[in-house]
Amino acid sequence: MLRPVAEGVLIHQSEFMQSNAVVVQGRAGVLLIDPGVTGYEIACLANDLRELGQTVVAGFSTHPHWDHLLWHAELGAAPRYGTARCAATVRDRLSDPGAKARIAALIPPDIAEQVPLDLLGLITGLPAETAQIPWDGPQVRIVEHQAHAPGHAALLIEERGVLVAGDMLSDVLIPMLDLNDTADPIEDYLAALRLLEGVAGDVDVLVPGHGSIGGADQVRARIDQDRAYVHALHDAHVPSDPRVGPSATYGKDWLPRIGCLACTNGNSSASPKEASATGRPASDPLAGLACTSVLPTS
Ligand SMILES: [Zn+2]
Repeated sequence: MLRPVAEGVLIHQSEFMQSNAVVVQGRAGVLLIDPGVTGYEIACLANDLRELGQTVVAGFSTHPHWDHLLWHAELGAAPRYGTARCAATVRDRLSDPGAKARIAALIPPDIAEQVPLDLLGLITGLPAETAQIPWDGPQVRIVEHQAHAPGHAALLIEERGVLVAGDMLSDVLIPMLDLNDTADPIEDYLAALRLLEGVAGDVDVLVPGHGSIGGADQVRARIDQDRAYVHALHDAHVPSDPRVGPSATYGKDWLPRIGCLACTNGNSSASPKEASATGRPASDPLAGLACTSVLPTS
């Protein structure tokens, strides 16, 4: 079911990790950001759009993790975009015949059969430094940063006051660092938070890739919460964060198993007890928290 969150901006939430697909009304159709997870839900979204008399004229994936790269034939054949670095990462990781089987193995087994991989990752990279999504609708500013995944982009729909944060600023998932091709993932993450803080004054509605929609106050609150978490990680404290531990929405069940919903890297050595208490395994303080990629790296 589509739910309006601002004028001309609607979301469609998946049962899987409260994943939010975002629909932005344009002049001749809609922009669809991170369409969803299961085939049933994406088809439901396509049906909702059809009933509204809307066609999808452009798509965008915020980052190269499988749960943000899906598509369904019923959404049509609009161009699908991502940042240049996102698209290059997808291309690289889908380049061999065994890639999809490896991705399928990363999907939680209870939904694996429901996730349509046929059209996974068919995105076009926008030239580096592209400032806005090329489409006929409200300006959508691309706020690219190096945190969580290569070429990760938040999107700012300024005239609607909406920030689509991708897998940043979630109220249910802890910061998940990207350890690929970076010397200092913690500083990368802090830099990304500063970048998002720089646009926070323009935001009335925050839409995370997973979790609850937030108001203006939530933007700064979540930035502060994530910054505190990352600092604690850096200082090797046990973070006291409501998203980790027995009372967390997902922390107790998900963190020990997969850390990032799409990524099993680094977590296999964690005992459930320890992981649920600290969010990280004993052997590698960063690996369990970092989503190195939903797409397998090799
Ligand atoms: Zn992700």
